[in-house]
Amino acid sequence: MPFNDANKADLPTPGKATRGLHADDPDHVTSPNYPLAPSLSLSSTFRLPHPASQIGQELAETGEAGLDWQKPPVHIYSRFTSETRGRTEQVLSSLLDSHALTYASGLTAAYGAILHYAPKVIAIRRGYHGVHAGIKIYSRTQDVKIIDLDDEYPKLDVGKRGDGSDTPKGGLLVWVETPLNPTGEARDLQYYAKRAHEAGGVIAVDSTFAPLQDVFEQGVDMVMHSATKYFGGHSDLLMGILAVKDKKQWDQLFDDRSHFGGMPGNMESWLLLRSLRSLQVRWRQQSTTATRLVEWLQTLVQATSSSSTVSKEDQKIVSAGVVQRVWHASLQPRKDKDTSATPRFEEGKDFNPAAQMKNGWPATFAFRLSDKKKAALLPHETTYFAAATSLGGVESLLEHRLGSDPTEDPCLVRVSVGLEEFEDLQADLRAAFLKLI
Ligand SMILES: *Cc1c(COP(=O)(O)O)cnc(C)c1O
Repeated sequence: MPFNDANKADLPTPGKATRGLHADDPDHVTSPNYPLAPSLSLSSTFRLPHPASQIGQELAETGEAGLDWQKPPVHIYSRFTSETRGRTEQVLSSLLDSHALTYASGLTAAYGAILHYAPKVIAIRRGYHGVHAGIKIYSRTQDVKIIDLDDEYPKLDVGKRGDGSDTPKGGLLVWVETPLNPTGEARDLQYYAKRAHEAGGVIAVDSTFAPLQDVFEQGVDMVMHSATKYFGGHSDLLMGILAVKDKKQWDQLFDDRSHFGGMPGNMESWLLLRSLRSLQVRWRQQSTTATRLVEWLQTLVQATSSSSTVSKEDQKIVSAGVVQRVWHASLQPRKDKDTSATPRFEEGKDFNPAAQMKNGWPATFAFRLSDKKKAALLPHETTYFAAATSLGGVESLLEHRLGSDPTEDPCLVRVSVGLEEFEDLQADLRAAFLKLI
């Protein structure tokens, strides 16, 4: 799909790692000597072709309104398109099997999604606090009712955007975050997609915690990512992504973005393009290390520990009851229901998170320590894990989550696993736990 036809040999559809590297390859025939590393152009404006030139004549005939903005014949102004951003979106579209558009941050993308559907009712529960703050801003502009994800969904008299398209306006938007911040637990997308559609609504997914999750296979309408996290992966850029299956809907999003001005800069787009080359291998490694850490951490929890398999050192941590609980999608469905005051989500009866997360378990998850003081201190007692917010980067992070989200469990620590060796991260956490006893 995204590959230039002239480059295509008779090969099978490439996997995600290959697409991350080649989905934006220039045409081998017309660009026989292209640089392998994309060039960076920071220009905000472009010289327009002479009206008598062939391309100038073509432009005059189609007009701006008739242009295909995914493949513009010329660039005009970088609020619309630029070479670098176009290439980045080409690779993202390929990786996400859809039409992707980039934004200045994850929250700009989330806000773009809300403006696009202009809902009267939003069904949401917990998850990233900034999205809730964005909904509050939106609710200043019109009456919007916030309901819980598991409430009954109202059937609304849905209007249209008024541009001749099928995109609804004033209806129900079901907003599902999965895997969920900060615990890395998965929510059942097929279940919520079915419920949303039965009520005549739409469903958008914040899939930031699983960059390669194939959410469209679960029947969702739109996916949003904070590309600041895994896609960027190097803690040096802020960007967001929205992706949809329908090109006409992409055109609407493009038009909105061009006029509310939520696009990323060229420099960030270039950094993201560079990061996309290694996304698959980073994600695979981070996901594997995180899942191993979760397995080990479970052996430190008194309720799930078995003394025969735990080392002497670890036994000290178990006996002191430092780690009280671990959350991660690989531990679902769990039999021991959470007894903390913070409401967590209930799994659907038939939900199999492994089937939804075929491309790997989350590399961000959380655990609860025995008291608030330990949770506040732990991120500062480690050597390799840095005490910092955010996630998805190559460096591992720990965060006392209460600092970022005042509604969070005060004993909860969020873990973002980077690319250090499993053994080093394990030893680092072990030493820090022992210090806290
Ligand atoms: C970080 C994050 C966001 C917001 O993204 P920014 O790029 O920081 O604006 C939204 N949702 C989730 C799940 C996130 O982790």
